Amino acid sequence: MKKVIIRKTEEIENWRKNINSEINFIPTMGNLHNGHIKLISTAKNDNSNLNLVSIFINPLQFDNKLDLENYPKTIDNDIKISFSNGADAIFIPSNEDIYPPNNKNIKFLKAPIELSSALCGLNRIGHFDGVCTVIYRLLNLVKPKNLYLGEKDWQQLLILKNLVQRKKLNVAIKSIPTQRDFDGIPLSSRNVHLSKNERRLIRFFSSELLEAKKTFEHKKKINLKEIIKKLSEKKISIEYLEHLHPHTLQKARLEDNISLLAGAIRCGETRLIDHVFLMKRRPIIAIDGPAGSGKSTVTKLIAKKLKLLYLDTGAMYRALSWLMIKDSIDYKKEKKLQNIFKDISIVFKSNTNEKQDVYINNYCVTEEIRSQQISSIVSKISSLKEVRKFLVEEQRKIGESGGLVAEGRDIGTTVFPNAELKIFLTASINERAKRRKSDKNSKDSQEIDLHTLKELIKKRDFEDSNREISPLMKANDAIEVITDGYSINEVVDKIIDLYNEKIPKEIEIN
Ligand code: AMP
Repeated sequence: MKKVIIRKTEEIENWRKNINSEINFIPTMGNLHNGHIKLISTAKNDNSNLNLVSIFINPLQFDNKLDLENYPKTIDNDIKISFSNGADAIFIPSNEDIYPPNNKNIKFLKAPIELSSALCGLNRIGHFDGVCTVIYRLLNLVKPKNLYLGEKDWQQLLILKNLVQRKKLNVAIKSIPTQRDFDGIPLSSRNVHLSKNERRLIRFFSSELLEAKKTFEHKKKINLKEIIKKLSEKKISIEYLEHLHPHTLQKARLEDNISLLAGAIRCGETRLIDHVFLMKRRPIIAIDGPAGSGKSTVTKLIAKKLKLLYLDTGAMYRALSWLMIKDSIDYKKEKKLQNIFKDISIVFKSNTNEKQDVYINNYCVTEEIRSQQISSIVSKISSLKEVRKFLVEEQRKIGESGGLVAEGRDIGTTVFPNAELKIFLTASINERAKRRKSDKNSKDSQEIDLHTLKELIKKRDFEDSNREISPLMKANDAIEVITDGYSINEVVDKIIDLYNEKIPKEIEIN
């Protein structure tokens, strides 16, 4: 496909009609640097859509005429950079194209006050209204499948996510972590205006934020006053420094596992922003749902794709059952179990096949716990109060530092009620019965007819939902994902999208 430069809004529509492909859209204001390049190359590597980069300095975003006039313009170089990093088309409209003087159809939008009055909105009146107006206009022209944005402008990202939701636009937002220069400061088109001394100041500011992040990881606390004092001692002019909830931009609460420390400083004429995410532990995904909903397959794939530990709670119940048989522990004497459990340790370790082994008291039992003997006893053992109590505690210990995805029946309600993402994975009884019938590895597929399978599933659902200890329950804040008609990969992608909506990409960095 020929690479094209489009300058008129009418040409966009023609291009769209001719390409026969979905579009990834990367809006920019030009003077492209490695942050923009990362956006373009991420879009290129994500899928086979065509990539459209726009370069438009939106006057509505500027509250200061001088800032607008001085905004760096490097269009020839931007064209080269875009094409050589994966752009298929570049849209370079003029002011008149985006805001035709007599076109009454242009909608001037307002950003939501809750998100736009904090942080940068405090001093940049109308800035986010301008961002919403131009992006809404561009999205209506380009009609992309995906919109690529940088987490560097986190507040802008939240406001645009809100815009897409509010206007019910059919576009997925994908974000990339903040890209930094060799000395740690966020790459920004405005950095070219910095003097040596100003650059030194912003370097100090960025390194202080990073230091705060590290301290927070140990102490789980932050001292804003101390950071402000240190910055002031260097004569850094702080516009704001705030510790906030990363999605609502309200003051961070004690119980927030991930929070945002964001600041803006003024260096001469240039205003620079930077932020870090503070995290008490790495994220946790809880996946609950009835038998046959595809939980374990989906959970394993998610763990692999997101590089999280797969906390196979079922394997823990099986491992304990294995030990009870091996050591002839009489599980009916529930009172005595507490004492026995004191000396038991269960751990998961990755093996050389990129899979996970489960160890109980240093025995690797991955294979053995799948035997028929264990299958026949595990549900009895897992219904014992003492067993449940012991293993829930063990699961929480494994989850202390986070970084895992767990599946079961009571993960989101009992084991990890503070999980960042809770999924209730389900499918209709019809669908689950059909899946079991077509499962070549299942004995059911040959021996039981569809109608009986449905009755068995109904009975199991009822028992699971009504048992006394840890019944199957959807947590209030869980998102229900109904898998009827979707492939495993589609379900995995859907859950990863939900994860990415909640968790900044950036948390894995530094
Ligand atoms: P701009 O050209 O400043 O309007 O930015 C265009 C897009 O690039 C926005 O989605 C920005 O968030 C993103 N971007 C700019 N700088 C960076 C950076 N240093 N790291 C990641 N994304 C960035």
